[in-house]
Amino acid sequence: MSETKHNWTKEEILDIYNKPLMELLYEAATIHRKNHDPNTVQVSTLLSIKTGGCSEDCGYCPQAARYHTNIEGNDLMPVQQVKAQALRAKASGSSRVCMGAAWRNVKDGEEFDEVLEMVRTINKLDMEVCCTLGMITENQAQRLAEAGLYAYNHNLDSSEEYYKEVISTRGYQDRLDTIDNVRKTNVTVCSGGIIGMGENIEDRAGMLVALSTLNPQPESTPINALVAVEGTPLEDQKPVSIWEMIRMVATTRIVLPETQVRLSAGRTQMSREGQAMCFFAGANSIFAGDKLLTTPNPDVNEDMKMFELLGLNPQKPFTKKVQPQTVEAAESKFEALGEKPKWTRPEHKIERNEAAKQKSKALK
Ligand code: SF4
Repeated sequence: MSETKHNWTKEEILDIYNKPLMELLYEAATIHRKNHDPNTVQVSTLLSIKTGGCSEDCGYCPQAARYHTNIEGNDLMPVQQVKAQALRAKASGSSRVCMGAAWRNVKDGEEFDEVLEMVRTINKLDMEVCCTLGMITENQAQRLAEAGLYAYNHNLDSSEEYYKEVISTRGYQDRLDTIDNVRKTNVTVCSGGIIGMGENIEDRAGMLVALSTLNPQPESTPINALVAVEGTPLEDQKPVSIWEMIRMVATTRIVLPETQVRLSAGRTQMSREGQAMCFFAGANSIFAGDKLLTTPNPDVNEDMKMFELLGLNPQKPFTKKVQPQTVEAAESKFEALGEKPKWTRPEHKIERNEAAKQKSKALK
């Protein structure tokens, strides 16, 4: 195991990111091998359990109600349907199901109770369960943990500075506070970001400073390449090059040595050769399934063919941490507190978000 360093500076990270590529790859692959089996890759399935109609203004997201995109919104998925999808994911090699709901934050009540039931149901299928539901309080994190949640995803998206250019409806500190609430339980943290939103390399390094200085560091870090969706404020962004993705993955591996680094959105734009280089550089997790919430993703059979070609094996569930116990609702020792925390709403003006909103109004 490498010693994990928690005081990375932006300058140090930039020096790593900008190294000659062969040197960067060699260093990242060496650290990867010290901390992980290089032939094992975790396969997760992302399930959108509540799609669209979100009140937030995230500039990359087609699920924000204020932008005009072609996605079909859905109310909360019934537990039985979630179970059926989880079984399908398990049969095709996934060890983790990540459930995403397009919410600003979790509200206590019937819908959250349903989500807790989904967590219990999937944990009983002996799969790792992850949720991404927006901001949560400590009590909500405890209730999720008690239901058997393995991981909670809450991305930092970018550097604190660039975050303000993408989202105006909540602050960076809210993200960190939610991660902190998750850390008060035994649920692991999944947090990463997106490249290709118009940020510069300093912002990428800034995001890695924020993630690497968390103590403990996140157990899982998704690196997404923006999928520019028509109607969103970032619709005109050019796709990131594979070389930027490889550099970002390698740098993430070096500063987060023990973390599972996940290739997430944007894989459809990457060749097999490109993905192979990302695995060599330290990526050891992917999302499977033909959709990532609302954006396209490679077909699961294609992924399995790629695994075969590269000699990769899907990671078994609970390899890194033991399976959490599920406590049934009737035996829960936590009550819903019905808290209404004051998550911030900076509401500063982001020109391109405003323009996308006006365009959407004109189309309605
Ligand atoms: S990223 Fe999440 S919080 Fe932001 S608009 Fe989309 S669904 Fe809402």
